[in-house]
Amino acid sequence: MSPEASELVRRVAEFLSAHDPATTDPADFLRARFDAGLAWVAYPVGRGGLGLSRSLQPEVDRLFAAAGAPDNRSEVNGIGLGMAAPTILRYGTPEQLDRYLRPLWTGEEIWCQLFSEPGAGSDLAAVATRAVRDGDDWVVNGQKVWTSGAHNARMAILVARTDGDVPKHRGLTYFLCDMTDPGVDVRPLRQITGEAEFNEVFLTDVRIPDTQRLGAVGQGWEVANATLNNERVAIGGRAARREEGMIGVVAKTWREHPELRTPDLHGDLIKLWVDSEVARLTGVRLGQKLASGQPGPEGAAMKLSFARINQQLSGLELQLLGADGLRYSDWTMVRPERVDFFGRDAGYRYLRAKGNSIEGGTSEILRNIVAERVLGLPPEHRVDKDIPWKDVPR
Ligand SMILES: Cc1cc2nc3c(=O)[nH]c(=O)nc-3n(C[C@H](O)[C@H](O)[C@H](O)COP(=O)(O)OP(=O)(O)OC[C@H]3O[C@@H](n4cnc5c(N)ncnc54)[C@H](O)[C@@H]3O)c2cc1C
Repeated sequence: MSPEASELVRRVAEFLSAHDPATTDPADFLRARFDAGLAWVAYPVGRGGLGLSRSLQPEVDRLFAAAGAPDNRSEVNGIGLGMAAPTILRYGTPEQLDRYLRPLWTGEEIWCQLFSEPGAGSDLAAVATRAVRDGDDWVVNGQKVWTSGAHNARMAILVARTDGDVPKHRGLTYFLCDMTDPGVDVRPLRQITGEAEFNEVFLTDVRIPDTQRLGAVGQGWEVANATLNNERVAIGGRAARREEGMIGVVAKTWREHPELRTPDLHGDLIKLWVDSEVARLTGVRLGQKLASGQPGPEGAAMKLSFARINQQLSGLELQLLGADGLRYSDWTMVRPERVDFFGRDAGYRYLRAKGNSIEGGTSEILRNIVAERVLGLPPEHRVDKDIPWKDVPR
């Protein structure tokens, strides 16, 4: 064990002896863990971390779990932890870091992402939601769509147009929006699985203090891209163990049902097993790159292959199960706290995986990013890039 790792183990033990998980209130425990720098150890001192390598995080989490410590239910705050937090850390003022990071990490404040609109998805820079300055506040009007978890969220990251006279990428500003504002109206959108994981969100005269602007006025595109790069890594780039995730589910079904095997299915399984392993090892490499800086466009490639492999494997799982795969346990509309991908049946997985090639950037858009920013191929023709946003036909 490295000296850094042993020192961390010592700190965790010291923390646990001062805060008995069995008798400490869970919220107090989590706040104290944040203050001790044992929340996300790669974050700076004073911001929930100790400025250490990300690679030490799993061991810290394991030690806390083994001691029966409360956890921050990271599965219900993926957007907060994976996307909002790194963006706030990079662009936030000291006051914003003080105000938002701790309740975000402890799970006291769940976050959602108010980016996509009916007319701005792949072309996010086309956002039409307006934010107009009024004294110390901004007044926001518009409609967002596909907002995952908005029904549980206390806060949102929001991209809005603050200047329509300049080309689309330059007139955007990034805000931290309080979802309890009376002008925020969240309505469920039911998806193919029967659930309503996401929502449409109507913003009517929502007031956002200027102190909740993240980055400079007009810097929204740059800040949003930092979020999107983190999103792709969060969706596709998690370090996994061999046969973890969808490949593990399908391999288990294969091993348990010899009667379902055919040579064709065997060939498909072997091919996808190899693809999954290559993706997993690429994820390890990406993790090492991440440990040394911010995620770059390489996260797009990981997310791209994750979506393809997950969809193919969930299709193979259905084929393997034959008629049983056609059963669907529950199609009632619920508004879930989180996506329970592995807790549900094969039919759910098959349908939910369809969204993987849309959420966090469609596979077509990710191919463009890989082509242009990783491989250096000539860029797509973009006709509206230099015209003021207000003059672009829509
Ligand atoms: C499960 C799920 C959860 C989501 N959660 C959120 C969320 O929490 N917050 C949020 O803001 N958004 C969320 N989204 C929205 C998601 O980011 C958008 O759906 C996505 O960016 C695509 O935008 P769009 O739906 O407007 O499709 P469009 O942009 O209209 O695209 C339609 C089709 O055209 C293709 N296309 C578009 N432009 C090009 C091009 N230049 N080259 C080649 N092909 C192109 C696309 O690939 C796609 O196939 C979620 C989506 C899903 C499915």
